[in-house]
Amino acid sequence: MSFNADLIRRQFPILECKVHGKPLVYFDSAATALKPMTVVDRINEHYLYEASNVHRGLHFLSDQATQYFEDSRARVAGFINASAVNEVVFTAGTTASVNFVSQAFGRALLKKNDEVLVSEIEHHSNFVPWQKVAQQTGSKFEVFEINKDGSFNLENFLNKLNSNTKIVSVSHVSNTLGTVFPVKEIIKHAKKIGAFVFVDGAQAVPHQSVDVKDLDCDFYAFSGHKLYGPTGIGVLYIKSNLQDKMEPYQMGGGMVDKVEQAITTYQDAPYKFEAGTPHIAGAVGLAAAIEFVNEIGIDSISEKEQELLVYATKIISEIPSVKQIGTAPGKGPILSFVIEGTHPSDVATLLDQEGIAVRAGHHCTQPLMKKYGIPGTVRASFSMYNTTDEMDYFGKTLKKIVGILKD
Ligand code: PMP
Repeated sequence: MSFNADLIRRQFPILECKVHGKPLVYFDSAATALKPMTVVDRINEHYLYEASNVHRGLHFLSDQATQYFEDSRARVAGFINASAVNEVVFTAGTTASVNFVSQAFGRALLKKNDEVLVSEIEHHSNFVPWQKVAQQTGSKFEVFEINKDGSFNLENFLNKLNSNTKIVSVSHVSNTLGTVFPVKEIIKHAKKIGAFVFVDGAQAVPHQSVDVKDLDCDFYAFSGHKLYGPTGIGVLYIKSNLQDKMEPYQMGGGMVDKVEQAITTYQDAPYKFEAGTPHIAGAVGLAAAIEFVNEIGIDSISEKEQELLVYATKIISEIPSVKQIGTAPGKGPILSFVIEGTHPSDVATLLDQEGIAVRAGHHCTQPLMKKYGIPGTVRASFSMYNTTDEMDYFGKTLKKIVGILKD
């Protein structure tokens, strides 16, 4: 399918909803993307006609469910260009993936005086688990600063990177500012000193092509629901050479080989990392979402979203008293802003009254808000199903709101 905005919008029936009597304008895709019919149909089909547990049964439905589940893993591996299918572990989402690696890998690796390095742009999900494991292991939790415009600062990063740094964990794309970090460069520097690198790709995977082999990261995580897929399913890519060195994170059924009172042996990866019944429908739905994205083409999606971002940026920059937070060159389709003399939640509530869904607050990045000395921002985040008409309406509405709140 080439890029056809009308056809694409028709895949998302929710866009025909009215909110407070107004047509819905959904500018909150960074929180979660809307779901196309093909994804929802695929999940329905699974539950209605294929429901069965995986890796267990000796019957047709179970074998079939196992096949679809493993096909989904292969589809994910292809999408991020993993070297092997077993490098893909299904988790509940990005947050679960970070907790997994920080506890199953970080906790075993880190010793007193070692360092874990993250950036000040991180989502709490890629901040707090590392802070916690540093406390647990007596290692140091270090944070490097970004530039005021939200862009990556190589010097600040290199100043914090040293021979004690054992793990570097960074966002590929910031959920608050849209900044795209040069992760390949970050990884290259980290590798030179022998540090392992975790990349939080939650906001990258829906908007640009990702090649984990080319990046040479050790871990890469993302959530299905931000990629037009279901909630409760996520991905953790673990580079092959680390899998045998890593202990399982959770114990239980499905991940064991032999269990005796004295000792238990585990299955090979990825199964040893997937205790219990996995989110089968989630994996199948995620595969359908990837198929949907592949049919349109991630590069076409990216191009369209960049056009929308440029258009929206121009609109808000023409409204006096609106100040954009985060203007890094090459950023993703996320616009964060504050309006002088107003609170972000008031702006979001008034926008909602006009049918426009945005997010307001700290966006799970409190350290970043502290840097800017603000309690939060209004965040409008875009996706391929948005239109310039919606942005015109957004601009007009925002002007009206500025007038109301300043009176
Ligand atoms: N990292 C980033 C950059 C995010 O945007 C989010 C979701 N807002 C997360 C991590 C956490 O993702 P999830 O809630 O799906 O686990």
